[in-house]
Amino acid sequence: MAAGRFAPSPTGPLHIGSLYTALASFLDARAEGLPWRLRFDDLDAPRNQPGAESRILRSLEAHGLHWDGPVERQSERLDLYQAALEKLQRRAKLFHCTCSRKALAGSPIYPGHCRGQIAPVPNAAIRVRVDDAAVEFIDLVQGRQHARLGATVGDFIIKRRDGPFAYQLATAVDDGNPNIVRVLRGRDLLANTPRQLHVMALLGLPAPTYAHIPVLLNTAGQKWSKQTEAPTVNDHKHLANIRACLMLLGLQPPDLDLDTLIEWASAHWSLDRIGKRNQAFDPSLS
Ligand code: GLU
Ligand code: ZN
Repeated sequence: MAAGRFAPSPTGPLHIGSLYTALASFLDARAEGLPWRLRFDDLDAPRNQPGAESRILRSLEAHGLHWDGPVERQSERLDLYQAALEKLQRRAKLFHCTCSRKALAGSPIYPGHCRGQIAPVPNAAIRVRVDDAAVEFIDLVQGRQHARLGATVGDFIIKRRDGPFAYQLATAVDDGNPNIVRVLRGRDLLANTPRQLHVMALLGLPAPTYAHIPVLLNTAGQKWSKQTEAPTVNDHKHLANIRACLMLLGLQPPDLDLDTLIEWASAHWSLDRIGKRNQAFDPSLS
C-alpha cells in the first residue's frame, strides 16, 4: 500500500531537528491520505547507539506521531540489498575499488582508477558506474533538480570496504519499493538523491516523489545534529515542542490539545508554506 516514511538512524535520541523532520514527514503523509512508515537506517553498526531505537520510538509516540505497520530495520533486509547488488553486477555496472583514502584525497570526483577490476578483490569497496548518467527530478520544495553524476561525484560506493552496504544502495532499494511514494527529508540529504535515483533506475525501481525541507540551524549557523550537540527533545514538553515545530513549518497553531492539534495540522498542511532556506532555531528561547 502506498506510503510515506521516516528513516532515522539510531545514532542517538531525537533532537529538535529530527523531531521537526519527523513531524513534517508525518503531516505530509497524512495530508496525502497515506500511511506513515518508520524505518531505522541501522547499517552503520559502530554508529548505532544502544537504546536509541526505543528512545526514538518513545519520543515519537509522546509527540503524537504514531507510525503505521511494523517498525522496519535495514539490518533485517540484507538479502534484498545483496540481490540488488547481484543484479547490478549482472548488468556490468559494478567494480571493486582498492584505492586508498590517501590516493583519493583531494579528488571529490572518483577518478576511475579501478574500473577494470570487475572480479572480486579482497579488501575492496564496491562502486557503481555512473557513466554519463544525467538525473533530473522535481523536488516539491526545492524545485527542478538536475545532476550529471560524472561531474559531481563519479562512480560511487555502494558497499563499503569494511563490509556494510552503503546508505546510497540500501536507501535506493527501500525507497524504490513501489509502496514508498513520498520521501520528505532534510535538505542536507538533497545531494544524495541523484545517486539514489541512479541506483533505482539501474535496478528498474520506481522513484518516489521527493520533498527536501530546510534544516534547522543552531545559533552558529550549523545544522542541529548529534555532531553539533543538539539537545535531546524533552518528551514531557510534547505540546510546546510540536507547537514550535509547526511554527517553523509555516503554520500558526491554535490552542488545542496534542492529538487535536496534530489533526488540525494535517488538515492545514501545505508544502507551499515552507521556505527553501534553512532557518535558525534557538531552543533556549522556547
Ligand atoms: N537515516 C538517514 C538520516 O537520518 C537518512 C534519512 C533519509 O534518507 O531520509 O540522516
Ligand atoms: Zn579505486
